[in-house]
Parts: sequence; C-alpha cells; structure tokens
Amino acid sequence: MCDAHSWQQWYQMSMLPHISDRIVELYDALGTAIEQQGATCWSSGKCCNFNAHGHLLYVTGLEIAWYCHQLQSTAVTVDLKAACPFQIDGLCSTHAIRPLGCRVYFCQAGTADWQQDLYEQFQKQLVQLHEDQAIPYAYMEWRYGLAQALPLRPLT
Ligand code: SF4
Repeated sequence: MCDAHSWQQWYQMSMLPHISDRIVELYDALGTAIEQQGATCWSSGKCCNFNAHGHLLYVTGLEIAWYCHQLQSTAVTVDLKAACPFQIDGLCSTHAIRPLGCRVYFCQAGTADWQQDLYEQFQKQLVQLHEDQAIPYAYMEWRYGLAQALPLRPLT
C-alpha cells in the first residue's frame, strides 16, 4: 500500500505539463507501434474482466495519478474482485486515457510475443521518465491502485 504522501507526489508530478506531455507521447508512440502489428480488438471485454480471465493489470503510481486527474468523474466504486470499474457494456469508457498495460494487451491468438516485447520496451521508457524527473517509482495492481488514489484526488 502506498502512503498518501506518495500519491500526492504522483498527482503533483503527473499534472506538470512536461511530464504529462511525456506520458502522452509515450502512449502515442505505443499506439503507432501496435498499429504496425496489425492487431485487432474484438471487444470481447476479457482484458478488463481480470479475475474471470486470469489476467491482471499492473500500472505505475504515476500513470494512475495521471489517469485519475484526466477523469471527468471520480464517482466510481472500485471492487477489488470485479472487472475494471471503467468497463461499461464490455467496452472501455476511458479509452483515450487508459494506461500502458491496457493499450498493449490483446486477447487475439498469436499476439503474445510482440505484446511482451512492446510492453518491456515501453515500460522501460516509463521507468526512464521516473529516473529523469526524480519521480518515486511503484508498480501495482490496477484496482488496488485506483482504490487508494481516487479518494486522494486533488480538487482542481
Ligand atoms: S481502463 Fe479501460 S482498458 Fe483499462 S482495464 Fe479499465 S476498462 Fe479496460
């Protein structure tokens, strides 16, 4: 469990334009790399229904803070045993701001190798961003991170 001070730091840093821009650039570059693989999302909803499909999503504290800051609403209940609270009718309701792990995961057969390579490549860039900007690094399961971060979201 990360303490309130860590979340405050991630929130503050994720709102700085030069850091937010780096996150967006990283996501955009990942999107381009995925397009080149020709993967197709079949909207099965499996990727976001974690326990049911034996798939967990891990995310950095900085990404969670950035994501929560972009959210229009924080009136969200996080159930640690259920699907992602942002999955609605099988689809992601926050597609444009979803974290790295969501972007790279496809349930399509034959995608595992390039997914792993891309994930490692872009996760390394995310680690580098933390190092460059002296941001504390923590990596955690998505719902646990959301449950901690959402109540601490600063008022804007
Ligand atoms: S943020 Fe969107 S893509 Fe990621 S787990 Fe939640 S619903 Fe799925």
